[in-house]
Amino acid sequence: MAGEPQADCLFCKIVAGSVPATVVRETETTVAFRDINPQAPTHVLVIPKAHYPDAASLAAQAPQLAADVLREAGEVAAEDKVVGTGYRVVFNTGAGAGQTVFHAHAHVLGGRGLEWPPG
Ligand code: 5GP
Ligand code: ZN
Repeated sequence: MAGEPQADCLFCKIVAGSVPATVVRETETTVAFRDINPQAPTHVLVIPKAHYPDAASLAAQAPQLAADVLREAGEVAAEDKVVGTGYRVVFNTGAGAGQTVFHAHAHVLGGRGLEWPPG
């Protein structure tokens, strides 16, 4: 069923607590934790606790949960004090775009200059 935990999913394991993570925020529906391989001074991943493979399926099947993830991305940016200098929220979608974990997640990147267009 959509949203059910997947046994082989790294981020479902982080939600369950069986894989450790540096959690910066948690709500009833979301978890935000620091990326293990940060690409900027602020690099936090915001995930829905429920499993959806990517942002589009999350938005299509659970729009309120997608909104929760976006709201939390903004809260993370505020807590890390990167709102004033600007930050980026990225959903890599598909292996060709760099998605390696197929549990929807927003990257929140900030604290340094960010090039446009992205690589
Ligand atoms: P993607 O490449 O799918 O857009 O993003 C996956 C992200 O998860 C990568 O930036 C990667 O560094 C991060 N990541 C992979 N394994 C772990 C882990 O075990 N813990 C944490 N905190 N981040 C991870
Ligand atoms: Zn998952």
